[in-house]
Amino acid sequence: MTGNRSAAVRDTAQLVSTGRLPDGRRIDALLAEAHGLFAGETSGIVADYIPALAAADPTWSALSVAEANGARHSVGDALVEFSIQSISKAFVFALVCQQIGHRRAAELVGVNNTGLPFNSVTAIELNDGHPMNPMVNAGALATTALMPGATPGAKWNAVQDGLSAFAGRRLELDIAVYESEAATNLRNKSIARLLESYGRLAFDPLQTTDVYTKQCSLNVTTEDLAVMGATLADGGVNPVTGVRVVDAEVCQHVLAAMAASGLYERSGEWLYDIGLPGKSGVSGGILTIAPGKGGLATFSPPLDPAGNSVRGVLATTWLSRTLGLNLFASADVHRTETP
Ligand code: GLN
Repeated sequence: MTGNRSAAVRDTAQLVSTGRLPDGRRIDALLAEAHGLFAGETSGIVADYIPALAAADPTWSALSVAEANGARHSVGDALVEFSIQSISKAFVFALVCQQIGHRRAAELVGVNNTGLPFNSVTAIELNDGHPMNPMVNAGALATTALMPGATPGAKWNAVQDGLSAFAGRRLELDIAVYESEAATNLRNKSIARLLESYGRLAFDPLQTTDVYTKQCSLNVTTEDLAVMGATLADGGVNPVTGVRVVDAEVCQHVLAAMAASGLYERSGEWLYDIGLPGKSGVSGGILTIAPGKGGLATFSPPLDPAGNSVRGVLATTWLSRTLGLNLFASADVHRTETP
C-alpha cells in the first residue's frame, strides 16, 4: 500500500458507518471540539409560541453521547433540564409499536413524510384525514391516543413510565411548560378534532391533546436523551439499567420512521448531510441515533425556520462525519486491508 493510499484510507475510514465508535477519549475530544466550533453561531430564534419556552437562555449549548455499552460523554450545559417536546414522539411511537405491533401502528398512523411543517392542518386535509407519520403533531396525537389505558390518567402513566424506562431514571413534568402550552394549544386541539372528524383518533380529542401536551413537557437533559437514543441503538435494552424497554424489531422500525420524518420538512436534507435517524424538538433538543453504536443528543434553543436547533444541526453534521456515523458512507475496506 502506498503512503498516499494509506492516508486516503485513514481519511475515509473516519466516514464509515460500520464498526464501532472511536474510543472514549476520542469521543470526549470530538465533543469538546464541536462545542467550541459552534458556540459562536448566533443565528436562529428561540421558540415563543409556547410562552414558557421563551425564557430559555439562547447561549445554552450541550452535547452528549451515550454509547450502546452504556458509557456516557458530555460537554457544555449538560445539566440543564429542558422539556423534551417533539422528541417524545419517537418514544411514544415505540411504546405503541410494542403494544399493537409495528405493522398495525404504521397502518393507523402512517410512516410517510408530509413535506409540510410539524403542526400542519393542510397535510391532514391533503391526505384524506390520515395523520401521515408519528413525528408530526397529527401523527403524534394519533399515536398518544393509541397508548394503553382506558382513562387519560392511565395513558399518561404509561407515557411517563415508558419514557422514564428509556431514560433510565424517573422523568418529571415541567409544570410551567405544561401549563403554558395547555393554555395556548388551540391548534393541537383543532388537529385532534379534525382527526376525530375523519374517524382517525382512537381516544377523546381533548383528553388526547392533554396527555400529548404533558408528554412534551417532560424534562430531560442531553444525557437523558442520549441514553434514550442509545436504548433504540441497542436493540431496545437500556444500556445503563440493562432493562429491556421494547423489542429490537420495534427499534428498527422506529428508527426508519425517524429517518423519514424526524426533522419535518428538512428530513431529506438531514439524511443527505447526516445520514442518520434523528428527531428534533422546539425547546432546542436534537437526538440522533447510530444503530448499534449509540445516541448523540444536542441542546441549544435558537431554531431555524423549520423548528430545528441551528447549533444542533451544525454540531450533529460535524460529529456524524468525525465520529464516523453516517449510515450511507462506505470505503473500499476489503481491498485496502489486503497486504
Ligand atoms: N409541544 C409542541 C407542539 O405540539 C411540540 C412541537 C415540537 O417540538 N416541534 O407544538
